[in-house]
Amino acid sequence: MWSMIIKTRVKSNELKMLDCLAPRMEFTEKEKQRHYGLRKGFEGEIKFDIWMESLEIEHLTLNDLLLEVGGTTFQIDSLVIVQDNILVFEVKYYEGDYYYEGERLKKINGSEIKDPLLQLKRSISLLRQLFESLGFKLVIVSSVVFINPEFTLYQSPKDAPIIFPSQLNRYMNSLNKKHSKMTTLHRKMAEKLLQLHQTDSPYKRVPKYDYDHLVKGFMCGECHQPLDRTEKKEFVCSHCGTHEKIDAAVMRNIEEIKLLFPEKKLTTALVYDWCNGVLPIKAIRRVLNKNFSPVEDRHTRHYT
Ligand SMILES: [Zn+2]
Repeated sequence: MWSMIIKTRVKSNELKMLDCLAPRMEFTEKEKQRHYGLRKGFEGEIKFDIWMESLEIEHLTLNDLLLEVGGTTFQIDSLVIVQDNILVFEVKYYEGDYYYEGERLKKINGSEIKDPLLQLKRSISLLRQLFESLGFKLVIVSSVVFINPEFTLYQSPKDAPIIFPSQLNRYMNSLNKKHSKMTTLHRKMAEKLLQLHQTDSPYKRVPKYDYDHLVKGFMCGECHQPLDRTEKKEFVCSHCGTHEKIDAAVMRNIEEIKLLFPEKKLTTALVYDWCNGVLPIKAIRRVLNKNFSPVEDRHTRHYT
């Protein structure tokens, strides 16, 4: 009765920005990899959330927490409060064959990747410090979850806190056998953590871009390819088949402009230019008038 998601998972601003920018500029190899990694990571987290829906005992969930202790920030993919424990999950959507060599995680072709066990160890040590300062007494139990069924790990370190795809069901079953009752104390802990959540500024991490050099036009919200076809009051993506109402597409493009250029004044002309004239200026004005408040300057009108 008492279970709830205190903090939901949303696409990070960095991923949103990269999604907007990818079809509009040329990324370097490194930027492409970063984008791919974030996209895959988010896909995995969504799969993890779906798996978590089968947790039946009382619990409180906080996803994508960014916390800070002593000037060091650390991120937690998923934190689940149950009666006697804080469950912390580091979610990985790796696909293919991997192995451990010494204390290093490598792909079967030999390339080394960031070790999630080390990453988790670091976050947990910081989380413990934070809990100590807050006077939280619950025991932290942490695991790396490999959620992709196409993942295999050879020579995995013994007793490592790892949940493999083949163990997901059994792990959930054993959790569901635990006794768990949420009290106001648990609720207060969750609220405190939510309060401590930091907002991340991605602007320094994304590739450099400027308005004039970005490709303009309507891009599909799903596959990010240019949208060209309209059918009645909808755009239809000829690449992935997604339908989108024209008003929704205009709104999405406005959100893109606001995210990429928070300093720009939102005007009808700007949105018209960003969409590369694909839509009549009347339609854009209508959407702006409906969803924003007009501010009249001397000669121009912009929206906030
Ligand atoms: Zn598409």
